[in-house]
Amino acid sequence: MYWEKEIETMNQNDLSKLQGVRLGETLERAKKSIHYGKRFAEIGLDVGAIKTVADVEKLPLTTKEDLRENWPYGFLACSRDELIRMHSSSGTTGRATVVFHTAGDIGAWTNLLARCMYMAGMRRSDVFQNMMTYGLFTGGLGFHYGAEKIGALVIPAGAGNSKRQIQLMRDFETTAIHIIPSYALHLSTVFQEVGVDPRRDTKLRIAFLGAEPHSEKMRRKIEDLYGFKAFNSYGLSEMNGPGMAFECPEQNGMHIWEDNYIVEIIDPVTLKPVPDGKEGELVTTTLLREGMPILRYRTKDLTRVIPGPCECGRTHRRIERFKGRTDDMMILKGVNIFPIQIEKKLMDVPGVGTNFQIILERKGFNDEMIVKVEVASEFFDGDLLKLERLQRRITDELKGDILITPNVELVEPGSLPKTEGKAVRVIDNRKD
Ligand code: AMP
Ligand code: ZN
Repeated sequence: MYWEKEIETMNQNDLSKLQGVRLGETLERAKKSIHYGKRFAEIGLDVGAIKTVADVEKLPLTTKEDLRENWPYGFLACSRDELIRMHSSSGTTGRATVVFHTAGDIGAWTNLLARCMYMAGMRRSDVFQNMMTYGLFTGGLGFHYGAEKIGALVIPAGAGNSKRQIQLMRDFETTAIHIIPSYALHLSTVFQEVGVDPRRDTKLRIAFLGAEPHSEKMRRKIEDLYGFKAFNSYGLSEMNGPGMAFECPEQNGMHIWEDNYIVEIIDPVTLKPVPDGKEGELVTTTLLREGMPILRYRTKDLTRVIPGPCECGRTHRRIERFKGRTDDMMILKGVNIFPIQIEKKLMDVPGVGTNFQIILERKGFNDEMIVKVEVASEFFDGDLLKLERLQRRITDELKGDILITPNVELVEPGSLPKTEGKAVRVIDNRKD
């Protein structure tokens, strides 16, 4: 049941002590980097005075801008000879941030992914199809190494080419997949197109859904369509990538591995830590990274720690499904809205298909939200009255939640743009 029982179920006292020791070692390494060397000198930080994990608050926060300013090698804490791999963020704006790994780093990361997948029930008897982009993106190679470490048979399918994915699943009797949630919904329409029922005609039993925010409703919809159990997987390239936080069989929040990371939730405005249970921005510190330690990284991701122990017996705290990113938040007529709120509502309405898009426009002094929604194919049968009712229902549902009236446009199944990677949910045309 556990990949590493002792670590996964370690009591919180011992876990904190371990974090304190590892934090000390991390700081010794970090001070060798150009960035932290300079920063520690500026604030007069005596690394030796940081003794326990509670002292983490005395350390400076690190932002994406810091990483960009020190591009490419300013965060390195070792010589370049020791590095064996580079990855980068999948960000489409600005210069992507790069992260470098030593052999030790890849080993530790691989172990975390094995721990996660094993926790969700994957074993050496499984056939694992990894449907993520290989290359600089961490979701490909990260999971690949972890699954091999468990001893599963790995099919490095990569992203896209839906018909081939289905063929691979059938020919090789794939039992576990790693897939982006928006792509899982799209793929289900391709299953329909080729007349294959994933529930009946495949051996799929486990899915790892990650890389983008998705609601509980979306997870349940995907589970229903495929007949497997789906587990939420979270990570960001700056902290290695996937393997940071993962759902256990309870499917109630993601255990974030506190032997590898210090976890803080801060108020994004005051930058002060908030207690467990309160929502805020996740801030994390690497504890085992050799090549490029990062301290108190502001992830921009909004969540909270779920207080209390988990039924599964693991002691590492759980974080809740993400609400979104601080930089994804839309402000419309003074109202703060996250794309996931729209998604949650849409998933509830029968007749809604598998894709949607939000477009923001400025008309004079007025902001307008257009929500384009694909209709489910079985609903798209030329009955205009039915479509009109559907449009009205969606408008009312959204209005009730986000308090402004969106302009809902129903579109044909499969007509909205699809990406192989993370879905682009919002197009903001309001910029002057
Ligand atoms: P990357 O640039 O590929 O490192 O992207 C990392 C970002 O993807 C995170 O900071 C999150 O915003 C997002 N992300 C990854 N996994 C999840 C998840 N399971 N739920 C919500 N957001 C996620
Ligand atoms: Zn658990």
